Amino acid sequence: MKCILCSRFKFIDLENLKKPLLFFEPVCQKCFRNIKITPRVRVIDGISIYSFYRYEDISMLIGSKYSIFGSRVLKILSKKASEYFFNSHNISLWEQAKIYGIAIDDCVRSHYSHTAVILREFCKHSFRPSYGALKAKNMVHYAGKSLLYRQSNPRNFIYTKKFDNVFIVDDIITTGTTIKEAKKTVEKNGSNVLFAIVLCDAKS
Ligand SMILES: [Zn+2]
Repeated sequence: MKCILCSRFKFIDLENLKKPLLFFEPVCQKCFRNIKITPRVRVIDGISIYSFYRYEDISMLIGSKYSIFGSRVLKILSKKASEYFFNSHNISLWEQAKIYGIAIDDCVRSHYSHTAVILREFCKHSFRPSYGALKAKNMVHYAGKSLLYRQSNPRNFIYTKKFDNVFIVDDIITTGTTIKEAKKTVEKNGSNVLFAIVLCDAKS
C-alpha cells in the first residue's frame, strides 16, 4: 500500500523482514522517523500535561483518525510519543507505585476508541490501563468552540474506580477544559491525578 505521507508505494525490504507487518502500516518507515516530536508541558490545576506533537504538524495524520487507517495512524503516533516519554523520564520511580492510566471517554465510536489506542501504547511499560473508566455523559463536541462554550457545556464524566494513583489520557489539548473537568471528577472519587498525557497540543 501507499504511504499516506509521501505517497510512495512501500515494498518489503530485507530490513523489514523481521517485521513484515510493517508493510501494512499506513506510514512508511522513513516518514515514521521524520515525524517531528515537539514536546511541551503545560501545568493546569497543579499537574503537568505532557504533549508530543503540535497540532499543525500532524493535523493531516490526525485528520485521518476517522478513516479506516485511523487507529493505525494513532497507534504509530502514540508509539513514537510513548517511546519519547519513557526515554525522557525515570520510569523506575513509577514501578513501585501502582499507577493506572484512564482515558477520557474511551468508548467506541467509528469502529474504535481513539483515546484507548493512545492509552494502550502508554501502558506498555510501568503503567496499567483501565479501559472505560472515565465516560462522558454529555456527548458535546468542542472542536472550534469557544472557552465559554466549553465551560458552560461540561462533559459530565462518570468515574467510579478506586485507584490510588492515576494519569489521564486524551488525544488533543486546546483550552484544557476537558482535562480540568476530568481531574476534578476523578479526585472527587478519591483518586490522585499525577499527570496527564495528550498526543498533541492545539495551541500554537
Ligand atoms: Zn512515506
